[in-house]
Amino acid sequence: MKTWAETPIEYLKGVGPERGKVLRSELGISTFGELLHHFPFRYIDRSQFHTVESLDPELGEVQLRGRISNVRESGVGKGLRLNADFTDETGTIELVWFKAIKWVKPTLSHPGEFIIFGKPTAYRDRLNMAHPELEKVVPGEVRKGGLLQPVYPTTEKARAMSLDGRGLGRLTLALCSELGGKFPESIDAPLRDSLGLMPLEAALREVHVPTGHDALRAARHRLKFDELFFLQLRLLQMKVLSRQRERGAVFAKVGDYFNGFYQNNLPFELTGAQKRVLKEIRADTATGQRMSRLVQGDVGSGKTVVALMSMLLALDNGYQAAMMAPTELLAEQHFRTISGMLKGMPVEVRLLTGSVTQAARRPILEGCADGTVQILIGTHALIEDAVQFHALGLVVVDEQHRFGVRQRAKVGASGGSATPFSPHTLLMSATPIPRTLALTVYGDLDVSSIDELPPGRKPIVTTHRFDAQRLAMFGFLKEQLKLGRQVYIVYPLIDESEKVDLKHLTDGYEAIQRDFPEFKVGIVHGRMKGEDKDFEMMRFKDGKSHILVATTVIEVGVDVPNASVMVIENADRFGLAQLHQLRGRVGRGADQSYCILMTTYQLSRDARIRLETMVRTNNGFEIAEVDLKLRGPGDIQGTQQSGMPQFRISDITKDGPILQQAREVALRITETDPDLRHPAHATMAATLDRLIAQHADWARVG
Ligand code: ADP
Ligand code: MG
Repeated sequence: MKTWAETPIEYLKGVGPERGKVLRSELGISTFGELLHHFPFRYIDRSQFHTVESLDPELGEVQLRGRISNVRESGVGKGLRLNADFTDETGTIELVWFKAIKWVKPTLSHPGEFIIFGKPTAYRDRLNMAHPELEKVVPGEVRKGGLLQPVYPTTEKARAMSLDGRGLGRLTLALCSELGGKFPESIDAPLRDSLGLMPLEAALREVHVPTGHDALRAARHRLKFDELFFLQLRLLQMKVLSRQRERGAVFAKVGDYFNGFYQNNLPFELTGAQKRVLKEIRADTATGQRMSRLVQGDVGSGKTVVALMSMLLALDNGYQAAMMAPTELLAEQHFRTISGMLKGMPVEVRLLTGSVTQAARRPILEGCADGTVQILIGTHALIEDAVQFHALGLVVVDEQHRFGVRQRAKVGASGGSATPFSPHTLLMSATPIPRTLALTVYGDLDVSSIDELPPGRKPIVTTHRFDAQRLAMFGFLKEQLKLGRQVYIVYPLIDESEKVDLKHLTDGYEAIQRDFPEFKVGIVHGRMKGEDKDFEMMRFKDGKSHILVATTVIEVGVDVPNASVMVIENADRFGLAQLHQLRGRVGRGADQSYCILMTTYQLSRDARIRLETMVRTNNGFEIAEVDLKLRGPGDIQGTQQSGMPQFRISDITKDGPILQQAREVALRITETDPDLRHPAHATMAATLDRLIAQHADWARVG
């Protein structure tokens, strides 16, 4: 039986089949409940009117009341535009539209007054307003909803069916007047009251038909809490239930492999952060529950040795371990590093990548199956079905965000013939994400942070230079090259099929060859064949070329300690996370390293902030916070594949404290009653069931 909230939207008075269709296709609203959750993104304080005379670009968005005249169209094709004059008692301002002209034009013929809302901008020493919101003033009609008028997200097509901000407002008003026991409360009343939250129906009514600033704030808080809380509740429920279900190998003891390595082979003192993370891993793997832990730490923070020591812990307890890297080069590098670090120790380490020949493969596969291969390092080749382990206790996934969700899921599938357990998983990420985001994206994982670099690292010196300073920059490169250092020059090639970008890259390459005749210059980009790419990379790594002109393919690449200068061309076109990743390619050796960000003088505000942030700090966690503020959560690298939820009302760049509280409450509940069987949790259990039924992906969150 359908509940009231599930009533098809067509049944609402004022909708009908045609608008119903548009609501569904344009705004994704197909039921009463969905319309109630189509939240205003802003409120206009209708008590405030400005006059044309008082306008100033500094004011931001303003509301005006007046008449429209002199509507005129000009230009053709893409240059088509629409202008009109807007006049009140104090003066006239020009309105302009570049888009949606055919939808807007008919509206403008309304002879009466308009209320317009928009941002005045200076154009040729006059003010105009582009794409203002328009509202016809209907004489005698009292503006609904008091002085705070909700503004709803809508589309031009919906607008054309009178489903503009005001039309939607009328519909939500109609719905809200039906409320009163129709929409189920989501949180059990005692808990709700103890948290000081408004009842749900009251909150829904208030966001659509606000009665005042304070009530509106409380209502929005309630709805944000709901949105964040139920996601946390589901994530934590999944986590607790899977822990209960999925047993993991018990690494009860620390034995000779771990201790021997620590005492004889470890070439340095572990940092405090490394020790802390190792302790966390030890605690996890001693419980008998399966570990799913993410270790995030900047490039160079020393994640490899943490991974290695965790693997030795597995070996100490009679298990095998595997480590998976996203590229062959990286896998080979790990293999060499790890084999080197284990020198003199009786540990069997093997490398398995796509380019290992069939003949060489067989003994490796046999060794995995009979347990003689103790550590297997490789690319995704090692999760292929052919690889059977004897008893795999731990899988490490390096640069985990490079792998798809499915590949990651496969990693933990089976431990092998001699163990009933799935292996513990340790995911490594060099793209730190802020804590608030981690709670949402990785809510079902445990997260460790290596937030400290090994001592003695010289911080990379980052500068921002303009193209006009190119000669000076070249001079600096020459100095560094003469000292025997190597240089990366990176070009944006966001879309590998983009011809213009490729031309920039090859032009740059030729210019560098011309200007640096005494040095060898290499080039790599994504359109080259894999073997050519690897050849150029190896040539650079071996010091046979001195300058490497490249696209972001070097982002995850070989470790070249002698490369101490990174020049990033058109740096404004890169995102912060990517800039930080690229910069991480230098600063790996003993020499002072430099990162030079090149741009033209024309920079957007966001680009300026990105560049300033890069110059100011080397700390990936700090950079991630800025990135989150600039871009919002959906675009942050590493979150896309994780199925970052789309929030309707929360903004986790600002709602961190609410998220934190939601997390704590959800944690308290799931610790004692993960199935939500307790009568005190009955309302929440019903809500969660509904949400799982609505969201296909909630059934398998994480
Ligand atoms: P990442 O976190 O980027 O994977 P790596 O594990 O590759 O970093 O470590 C970077 C470099 O720092 C390596 O050469 C490694 O040997 C070194 N290193 C790691 N931990 C320490 C430490 N505690 N003290 C000194 N050097 C360290
Ligand atoms: Mg690494």
